[in-house]
Order: sequence, then C-alpha cells, then structure tokens
Amino acid sequence: MARGMSGEAAVGLCARCVHARAVRAARSTFWLCTRSREVPALPKYPRLPVAHCREFSPGKIHDPG
Ligand code: SF4
Repeated sequence: MARGMSGEAAVGLCARCVHARAVRAARSTFWLCTRSREVPALPKYPRLPVAHCREFSPGKIHDPG
C-alpha cells in the first residue's frame, strides 16, 4: 500500500469493486481480486492503489480498514 495514504484512497478502485475481497491479516489487509480467476492478466493481489482497471465493476463498498 502506498505510504502516506489511508482508507479508500490507499486501495483505489478495489474498495468499491464487486470482485474484491479484503483479506485481513494480523498487521495488514490484502486485497484479493476474485476476477483474476477468470482473467489471468489480472494479478491475484493487485498492487495498490488501483487507479485503472478494465474489469472494475462498481457496486460494493468495502471497509478499507
Ligand atoms: S477487477 Fe480490478 S478493481 Fe476489481 S478487484 Fe480486481 S483489480 Fe480491483
């Protein structure tokens, strides 16, 4: 996650995407892209923040933690 950023700004599009799953660990949260199962070009764990994504599908508000 980019330094100096927090919340949705640090996550980018994944924070509002139906394909994202927030995986909480002891010290941080990993963002899993479930769409990567069907679209191999997508990384399973995108580099954050995601500013552009062809597969972005808005509709879910995730708690960015
Ligand atoms: S499809 Fe794009 S915006 Fe949606 S979770 Fe995957 S990487 Fe993030």
